[in-house]
Amino acid sequence: TREITGHTRVYGILADPIHHVKTPQMLNALMAREGRDGVMVPFQVAPDDLATLVAGLKTMKSLGGFVVTVPHKTAIVDLCDAVSDSARRIGAVNTVRREADGRLIGEMLDGKGFVGGLLAAGIDPKDKSVYLAGAGGAANAIAFAFVEAGISRLTIANRTRAKAEDLAVRLAEAYPKAQVDIGNPDPSGHDIVVNGTSLGLKDGDALPLDTARLSPEQIVAEVIMQPEETALLAAAKAKGCRIHFGKPMLACQLDLMAEFLGMRALPGAGK
Ligand code: NDP
Repeated sequence: TREITGHTRVYGILADPIHHVKTPQMLNALMAREGRDGVMVPFQVAPDDLATLVAGLKTMKSLGGFVVTVPHKTAIVDLCDAVSDSARRIGAVNTVRREADGRLIGEMLDGKGFVGGLLAAGIDPKDKSVYLAGAGGAANAIAFAFVEAGISRLTIANRTRAKAEDLAVRLAEAYPKAQVDIGNPDPSGHDIVVNGTSLGLKDGDALPLDTARLSPEQIVAEVIMQPEETALLAAAKAKGCRIHFGKPMLACQLDLMAEFLGMRALPGAGK
């Protein structure tokens, strides 16, 4: 068993609510396997208190960094001292490293993790048409990663249409050749259908799209990890679609997060 000492590197995960997160369990197991003296703990923080917490975390010398999830991934961007080009374009950050001088460096790994999870399941999005429900932090990252992966066209449908339009504009700026449209709840006519909203997390949530319009040749993928089989995936399965769970997205991100947060090569870490 590992002991937490005065040398232990501390990592956090920022969320609200936080009880459902799986990242600490997985990254703590990864650090244990790597023989690294580090621990990730939950930091539950309300949106109004995020800036205060982050200002304090900058001063915490034993902090290696933190993972950021709902509802903070957009607000954290301006609280970082620097963010990667892709995170800047996406407008969201989900992993922040604290440098020795206290600078906070932000990166966005959701989209890379999502596409990596599809590839690991043998689903190559290249030249495929994609319907994406949502235009929040995760959906933004997934949209950029899909375009980078060479999809043929993208339809974005979001409750707040202005956010879908804004995402389409930023995609067009970064990738002038990308074919991007704004859609409605009807996902028909697309090879891959993705829920990138938070609908499905809670019992009684509405469906993120019109499942009556699904057909068996479509692949339906989910960002929600818990429950594993959301109402959307259950409906898609009943329609004969191939379904893809939310978990591979996280699994694929863990390696990227561990790398970015220095969990594999901590300076001065004990054995
Ligand atoms: P955001 O808060 O940034 O975005 C939420 C999205 O869901 C928006 O598009 C929002 O629409 C939509 N939405 C929320 N409530 C409703 C509603 N009642 N009706 C219609 N649309 C709604 O969240 P994130 O993008 O960061 O996260 C979304 C989900 O992705 C979360 O559930 C999270 O758990 C999951 N996720 C999973 C990961 C994984 O590794 N599997 C990684 C990252 C996230 P609007 O713009 O209109 O508000």
